[in-house]
Amino acid sequence: MTALQIQGLLHEGKAKKVFQTDRPGVVAVQYKDDATAFNAQKKAQLAGKGLLNWEISARLFEALEAQGISSHYLGCLEPGWMVVQEVEIVPVEVVLRNRAAGSLCRQLPIKPDTPLQPALLDLYYKDDALGDPLLTEARLELMQLLSAAERVELERLARAVNAALQTLMRPLQLELVDFKLEFGRSADGRLLLADEISPDTCRLWEVGVADAEHRILDKDRFRKDLGGVVEAYGEVLKRVQGLGSSPRQYR
Ligand code: UDP
Repeated sequence: MTALQIQGLLHEGKAKKVFQTDRPGVVAVQYKDDATAFNAQKKAQLAGKGLLNWEISARLFEALEAQGISSHYLGCLEPGWMVVQEVEIVPVEVVLRNRAAGSLCRQLPIKPDTPLQPALLDLYYKDDALGDPLLTEARLELMQLLSAAERVELERLARAVNAALQTLMRPLQLELVDFKLEFGRSADGRLLLADEISPDTCRLWEVGVADAEHRILDKDRFRKDLGGVVEAYGEVLKRVQGLGSSPRQYR
């Protein structure tokens, strides 16, 4: 088969660009160096972040696939670029929390670090202009964002991803505090894990480091102006590389 041809830009998000390709139902994703926080009120360019998130995401999608959790991910092109199945993104951000942090502690009287067992699953409406508001089951139904069967499948998949990621990360001395997932519908109507899994979308703490700032290996370094953002993401990649061989090439 001839090499994949990348065509026009379909969509530009805060951290990635999505391009059409010459193959139907297949799109190419380029990871950007842009960093944003607080609903894009805080912005910066972090040289190298795109490459780090690209490789971390590719390796995690492959590791999940090996555990029977498929996603939109198909393979990689040159560094920074991955090829994914085209999906219609469901405008629901799924957040799994194994420990209390971030917005949960701002919105409820729950002490940071409190273990959450079973993991708390929160759904948010994906809309920057509205500030990604928290959804209730009633609002989900009102907005008809998911069918009843999709709602069940989404939660089953999100909890399976949480269990698999925790199992993968524990030996790497990484604690998965919380993370955000997005799902999409494929042309044949299946709900597929989509978007990315990276330190932009996960809170990751270094196991065994008590200091509440030193242990942070994720976007909270950027949100809280702690410095060393790219270095922390590099540390995550180094550990995730320990899971196996280089990401596969898309053919
Ligand atoms: N998250 C994300 N994108 C968002 C909102 C949250 O990737 O638009 C991730 C965030 O990095 C963290 C988890 O979801 O790992 C929970 O975030 P939280 O609701 O605590 O909000 P935050 O503290 O990031 O404002």
